[in-house]
Amino acid sequence: MGEKVNAQEILGTSKIGLWRGEYENGAMVRLYADDKMDELLGITAPITPEERAIFFSERICPDDRELFLDYIYKLSENRTEIVYRYIHPVTGEMIIRCGGIRDLSSKQCLSVIGVHQDISDIIRLEQQGMAERRLAEQNITLRREQVVKENYYRDLLDVQNCGLMAYTLPERTIIHMNAEARRMYCVTSIQQMQQELGSKLRKVFYPDKDSLNRLHNLMETDDVVDYECILNHGTEEECHVMAKTKTIRMPSGERVAVTTFLDVSDMIMLRDALQQAEEGNRAKTAFLFAMSHDLRTPMNAIIGYGDLIQSHWEQENQAKEYLKKLQEASRFLLELIGNVLEVSRIENGKESLREEPWDLRQLTDTLDILGNEFSRKRLRVTTHVKLTQPLVFCDGTKVQEILMNLLSNAVKYTPAEGEISLELQQIPSDRSEDTVLRMVVQDTGIGIAQDFQPRLFEAFSRERDSSQSGIAGTGLGLQIVKSFVDLMGGTIQVESTPGQGSRFTVELPMKPTDVTSITPIQSAPLFPLEGGRVLLAEDNALNAEITGTILRDAGMRAETAENGAIALEMLKAKPIGYYDLILMDIQMPGMNGYEATRAIRSLPDERSKILIIAMTANAFEEDRQAALSSGMDEYASKPIRAAQLQQVISDVLRNRESQ
Ligand code: ADP
Repeated sequence: MGEKVNAQEILGTSKIGLWRGEYENGAMVRLYADDKMDELLGITAPITPEERAIFFSERICPDDRELFLDYIYKLSENRTEIVYRYIHPVTGEMIIRCGGIRDLSSKQCLSVIGVHQDISDIIRLEQQGMAERRLAEQNITLRREQVVKENYYRDLLDVQNCGLMAYTLPERTIIHMNAEARRMYCVTSIQQMQQELGSKLRKVFYPDKDSLNRLHNLMETDDVVDYECILNHGTEEECHVMAKTKTIRMPSGERVAVTTFLDVSDMIMLRDALQQAEEGNRAKTAFLFAMSHDLRTPMNAIIGYGDLIQSHWEQENQAKEYLKKLQEASRFLLELIGNVLEVSRIENGKESLREEPWDLRQLTDTLDILGNEFSRKRLRVTTHVKLTQPLVFCDGTKVQEILMNLLSNAVKYTPAEGEISLELQQIPSDRSEDTVLRMVVQDTGIGIAQDFQPRLFEAFSRERDSSQSGIAGTGLGLQIVKSFVDLMGGTIQVESTPGQGSRFTVELPMKPTDVTSITPIQSAPLFPLEGGRVLLAEDNALNAEITGTILRDAGMRAETAENGAIALEMLKAKPIGYYDLILMDIQMPGMNGYEATRAIRSLPDERSKILIIAMTANAFEEDRQAALSSGMDEYASKPIRAAQLQQVISDVLRNRESQ
């Protein structure tokens, strides 16, 4: 069993003393105390009860003396407690809890017995606890207020159309990022931004390289940097911003970089559009200026020779000569318009490659086309052809056009009896799977001045105009050549010495292809134009008359419809097989060429399969695509010529056969 606990021992370890006080005439006269009580009172030597009473009374804190006496009186009735301050001679103020009860056994005087407890520590602890509690409460309130305030500012920042991001330096820990900044950086949270910070910052493009240096300096020195940049550069989410980054010091001493961004993408777009419009305007003015001269020359010739023909109608030979000149001028005009259209398409980025299996040996046909020119000027032409892999995948028409332009320039700019050489060969490519076609056109002509050479490939640039040189030209040919070469990923070089001649070298990379993918040329029989019946859908009476005449001259019968709807009705009204072919204009009132073709293709009988060839003024790839996707078989560019028509029809028939 446990030891018996001695009450006195417990009291000894506690801070509780026992006492008995005797009072006479309202004043304590004797005070008896146990050892603990004496210790608490600060009495260290033996003392009489009378002396103790005085010692004690004197050390009650003067402010509490009255309270103490009052208490003693009250004790006469009840057992009560009091807390008062006692001044200990050594340790100073103590807080004492005093509980007493009247000792009724004593008859001589008022006697009170009680306990005297030092509660200073308890009170202090309690006070401390209270203070802590109060502090904690205050903290909670403050924190709440702070959160409310923070949320308020956060919401306030979120509704701004200005992005804001703040991160510490040098660690780059993001402290804040508002909604607009998250939108600009394409992230949904600060956490995501923190994770992707490296890659996001790498995707910022600074048009002015100096801003990046200035931003780097912010790592060391406090400053403000204003700059322009593109966020998410190179992606679809590009965002053009004006930004300002400032470094600040937080009360904690931490350095923070605060950046504000303003999305100016729309403004930039407008600015670019404006700039483009202005540039476009300038280019248009330059173009019109150049065109007015170049167009007027052949136009004047056409009108002039037309007048001459009229007035020399009776002199047949003379009239024929003028007619020849008029035709030359018309052809030139057509070529000019074709080139201008081509250039404008290239400039609008509309020109694209139509790559298909092609035989490079066809390039020598170009020489045949120019045959007349060579002999007219008695030019000596030498060719050197070494095509090791002639079957390639390329846009053959454009390659031919490049060569044609270079050769016709050589003819144009080389005086009679000069020399022209053409070299066609294939050289190895850097990429093993490719082959490079090298075309070299050299002449012994007038040559090109060194200072003009850099402008050679610009639109409308000519070293001498037609009136100076007597050589007709537009200054567009080499620009087209250069654009095509660029489109094919090739190169063009020129070496020239005035008075001695020029040498143009073109190199075009292309993929070789196998024999089977090339359809043999000329294998299909030519379409028998003679006797064929053509339904000509054309709203323009003049064009209808010209085309109709050409067709009839080639031995065909032509019937004209003024728009698509009439053509459809005529086709339906005649027996199956009555028409061999429809030549369909595209732009017609009422029902246009595309609509009419779709309607014909959905007819219930064999009529739906009739050959339909579009006639367009702009024979470009997208016109061709639009024609094909509406169900037409091919297109032919205006003005329609019998030979061209025959070629187109033969191509279509050949394709139909091979399908
Ligand atoms: P064009 O021949 O219609 O004027 P190009 O763009 O083909 O237009 O050529 C631009 C200019 O380059 C020509 O006007 C001429 O001054 C010069 N040029 C081109 N090819 C030759 C050449 N083979 N010899 C001398 N000059 C040339």
